[in-house]
This record gives sequence, structure tokens and C-alpha cells, in this order.
Amino acid sequence: MFGRPPTCTATLPRSGYRCRFAARRETGLCINHDPAYRVQQVANRTKGLALAAEARARRAQSPLYTFNMDLSDRTAVQALLDTIIRLELSGRIPLARSRNLIRAIAIATRNFDPPARTRDGNRRSAHNYTDYVLRQRAIQRRVEAVLARAEQHEESGPRS
Ligand SMILES: [Zn+2]
Repeated sequence: MFGRPPTCTATLPRSGYRCRFAARRETGLCINHDPAYRVQQVANRTKGLALAAEARARRAQSPLYTFNMDLSDRTAVQALLDTIIRLELSGRIPLARSRNLIRAIAIATRNFDPPARTRDGNRRSAHNYTDYVLRQRAIQRRVEAVLARAEQHEESGPRS
């Protein structure tokens, strides 16, 4: 059987008692009393912060950030949704990202007035089909271009 882990060999300055924390094997000191541990911890934290800042800076420079989404009317929103769904289904963007985008777009649509009613009380279709298809294709082209640049951007950076 393994015995109890050795306790820290440091003495507490006020009481004069031995520290009761478990010692790290290499030093015989606990994490509170081992100065090397603290130095290493600070170094790890500093490195972590630097890496996070670097990742943030890279994301801010990503072509994805400069992509302007048109959410100005129903047709624009519909065309954008169509594009996102296509991209997700074809594996060009991850499901989590498409889900977030669709959620944001759903919120945007609540700012629209309800579609006008025709004389017989039916909702008039808000979409002009030709206009819709042209806009969807235009968005798709722009998104594809942006995704291609974003992939290059990510590949040129450090892996994290
Ligand atoms: Zn200790």
C-alpha cells in the first residue's frame, strides 16, 4: 500500500508548527511554500493571457469580421438564412456557428412589421422569387469568398 503523502517541510512563521499540506514530491514543500511552484504558475498564467490576446487579435483581423450581412428586409434575411443553411450542410461552417447566426437573424426578424394582408385577409408573400434567387446567389458568392480568405487566414496563423 502507499503510505500517506509526505507533508510539507516548511515551518509556519507565526505558530512555529510544521505546515500540514501535502508536499510536492520533488521539493518536499507544498504548493504554498514552494517558490518554484509560484513562479511556474505566474509564468503559465502570463503565457495563457498572451495566447488568449493573440487569438483575439487574430480573430479581430479575420475576414469573417469584415463581412457585412444585409438584414434590411425579409428577402435579404431569407437569402442569408438560405446561404447559412447551405454552408452548414456542405460542412463549410460548423454547426455551432450556423446555429448562432440563425439565432441572431431570428432576433433581427422581430424588428420587421408583419407582412401586409391582401383584401381577402391572407398574408401577401413578401418575396419576389427572382429577386430572392439573385440575392441568395450574390450572398453565397460573397460568403464563399470570405470563408476562403478566413480559412487562409486561420491556416497562416499558429495552431491553438
Ligand atoms: Zn507548506
